[in-house]
Amino acid sequence: MRAPLFLIETNSDLPAHADVVVIGGGIIGTFAAYYMAKRGMKVALVEKGRVGAEQSSRNWGWCRQQNRDARELPMATKSLDLWEQFKAETGEETGFQRCGLLYLSNSEKELAGWASWGEFARTVDVKTQMLTAEEAAQRGRVTGKPWKGGVFAPDDGIADPSRAAPAVARALMKLGGTVHQGCAARGIETEGGRLSAVVTEKGSIRTKLAVLAGGAWASSFCRQYDIRFPQASICQTVLSISNGGKEMPAALHTDGVSMTRRFDGGYTLAISGRGRVDPTPQLLRFAWQFLPMFQRRWRKLVPGGLEGIRSGHEGWSRWRLDQPTPMERMRILDPKVNASVVELTYKRALDLIPILKESSVTAAWAGYVDSTPDGVSGIGEMTSLRGLVLAAGFSGHGFGIGPGAGHLIADIVSGAKPLVDPRPFHPDRFLSSAWGEVADF
Ligand SMILES: Cc1cc2nc3c(=O)[nH]c(=O)nc-3n(C[C@H](O)[C@H](O)[C@H](O)COP(=O)(O)OP(=O)(O)OC[C@H]3O[C@@H](n4cnc5c(N)ncnc54)[C@H](O)[C@@H]3O)c2cc1C
Repeated sequence: MRAPLFLIETNSDLPAHADVVVIGGGIIGTFAAYYMAKRGMKVALVEKGRVGAEQSSRNWGWCRQQNRDARELPMATKSLDLWEQFKAETGEETGFQRCGLLYLSNSEKELAGWASWGEFARTVDVKTQMLTAEEAAQRGRVTGKPWKGGVFAPDDGIADPSRAAPAVARALMKLGGTVHQGCAARGIETEGGRLSAVVTEKGSIRTKLAVLAGGAWASSFCRQYDIRFPQASICQTVLSISNGGKEMPAALHTDGVSMTRRFDGGYTLAISGRGRVDPTPQLLRFAWQFLPMFQRRWRKLVPGGLEGIRSGHEGWSRWRLDQPTPMERMRILDPKVNASVVELTYKRALDLIPILKESSVTAAWAGYVDSTPDGVSGIGEMTSLRGLVLAAGFSGHGFGIGPGAGHLIADIVSGAKPLVDPRPFHPDRFLSSAWGEVADF
């Protein structure tokens, strides 16, 4: 089942040329295109399916600084301001609100981890409040349960996954950018080692610059040009329920289940970290780099079946520019929902918050989270293919930092002063000897 998504009308005629072509209409591609159009660049965005239909509409909607990696934290902080600015300057509704995020726990180890992150957060002026048992019980009173403690992130917030990417795409079109749905980029052409055109199923667009914001498809796209970008997808199941009642916090995380208020008043429920890893040629190729991450999370990960291979996003074939590619056979990655996870998640939610017995399940869906081995995205111009800027591998945090990442991509493309230090994100780090050499098979 597909996640709820606000559908938008887009442009039909592909331009013959553009200053920059953005490949992929998720939150990253739309925000990058928006900020480039704001600078007066002629932008064309091509999306093989529908804007926002893959990860960007399937996530929980958390926009957080809390527990962020130090490399990503500055971008997370800037993004919160940019979410607010976006609505003020465009009038488009993304559902963003700084409602604060609440974490409750009965695990000393988890609480110690949050406390230690809180000490680091203070050094970079990020607000986070550790909660005593009494404070946790008070903030989490809807559960009616005792808690050893918790943490509250007052400046963090949520946005609405069903609306955000479409809202940004609409703002982009108002600035004169064009958006083309049902239009897969099959590949690129080069002249003198530099990008010279993006070839789509509907024709070519001449350009010297392209941003590859293809989410879970990025690594197989890179492979067409012998660019090594280690990426693995983890499939997670999510469900939504009808309204939760006035007492419910807007965003709550516990080890058993997490919940987020949706724009329509319902809630998204999920079990943090729970997922399925489908064996694919790409996974086998990069598996050893992901082993540390899989080992850390092994209790919550299960091996999947052949769906990952059938979906084609982690395939091994070489695409031809004059023939349909796997992206045209799979317009929208819509993996199978795990029914037992839906049942378990809902049961845990009812155990945690008894008033949810009044609710009912309204939808369930799954999504592939595209990850890198170090859990930080790859953003930067490819050294071996000038003009191609990679922006993928957001590792389960790309929605909240979408505005900041999009701004940084626009800075890189237009040569402006970067919003944050771009170096920690550069994809060349995956080529360094620290990652070793992996034989292709
Ligand atoms: C269950 C789940 C929960 C999550 N929770 C959160 C959360 O609470 N907070 C958070 O910050 N993040 C969360 N995430 C992660 C977040 O959703 C992603 O990091 C983010 O949406 C990535 O955006 P994207 O634009 O890179 O990718 P996507 O949204 O996947 O978009 C990529 C787009 O590119 C298109 N595409 C690919 N190749 C081509 C091509 N060749 N030509 C044309 N189009 C192409 C695809 O069709 C797709 O629409 C979650 C993810 C999942 C699945």
